[in-house]
Amino acid sequence: MAPASGERFTHMLVVMDAHATQEQIREVCARIEQLGLKAHAIPGSLRTAIGITGNRGEVDLGVLEFLPGVVECIPVSKPFKLVSRELKEEDTILRIATPLGQVAFGGGHVGIIAGPCAVESRQQAFAIARQIRDAGAKLMRGGAYKPRTSPYSFQGLAEPGLQILDEVRREFGLGIVTEAIDNESLDLVEKYADVMQIGARNMQNFSLLKRAGRARKPVLLKRGIAATLDEFLMAAEYVMAEGNYNVLLCERGVRTFSDFTRNTLDLAIVPAVKRRSHLPILVDPSHGTGKRHKVLPLSRAAVAVGADGLIVEVHHDPATALSDGTQAILPEEFRQLMDEARRIAAVLDRSVN
Ligand code: PEP
Ligand code: MN
Repeated sequence: MAPASGERFTHMLVVMDAHATQEQIREVCARIEQLGLKAHAIPGSLRTAIGITGNRGEVDLGVLEFLPGVVECIPVSKPFKLVSRELKEEDTILRIATPLGQVAFGGGHVGIIAGPCAVESRQQAFAIARQIRDAGAKLMRGGAYKPRTSPYSFQGLAEPGLQILDEVRREFGLGIVTEAIDNESLDLVEKYADVMQIGARNMQNFSLLKRAGRARKPVLLKRGIAATLDEFLMAAEYVMAEGNYNVLLCERGVRTFSDFTRNTLDLAIVPAVKRRSHLPILVDPSHGTGKRHKVLPLSRAAVAVGADGLIVEVHHDPATALSDGTQAILPEEFRQLMDEARRIAAVLDRSVN
């Protein structure tokens, strides 16, 4: 179908034939780039789709339709393209390699990330790492840069904290998930982490999103505390538009009038995301509730609702934690969480890893 005249032609998708050759795909991408736009070839199980981004609205893309191997050019109705199911029908499965083995998120795989809110010391990180690994986790979380509400609260250990996480990987085989709060910390986080976290407060820090999009590590993008679904997906689009297609979305609670939790965990966003996007969506029941005793019940619910992963705060001594102690579960509770998550996932023909 040719796009109607006057339409912003850059909102287009090129669908390649199932038998299109790599040469033909390259040729279409080259033609797109010649027009001053960016081509994003996304292979699917049946065919490759090529997303087109760029802000030159006047370019006539009709020529692409007649190139060898092209089945059709379809206008994308939504403002987000690369994150959308229109680009890629099947679920994206993101696989993170760790020394303990691979962890997959999406397509029936429920990945688990556990660890303290913040890296506080080598001794603390090692104590928690040992226990979460023994409970079956392969990815450890822990912030070296903490975006805190108060400037007087613990701000994280910065690079020495990242070095401790690096030691954790070597000592225990755990992959590392850790947050970058600005472009400067992202340079370092990219060096040390297996997954770079962008926190709720930075979900619309567009320069940081673009920087993460140029990085080579996968991104865990948390939903802003007042972000709509579209804003959340557009934030992911920023990362992907720069060429980093390895994005994990994460629901971590939004602000409401509810006064018995820190945030309201919006589990309904899981099926809503799955309708619109191929990306994996994780749930963070720790920030989503702020209370230790609510973390297990909401983890069960998250797995039941179809979350592609959980990120949970665990501390061996929450009373002394330098941040978020009230929502940290104990290592034995994490063990129980793993066991229950496995059993609930199995009922739904999904598997925890
Ligand atoms: C965190 O993961 O410790 C964190 C700060 O999360 P959020 O950005 O969701 O508040
Ligand atoms: Mn925290």
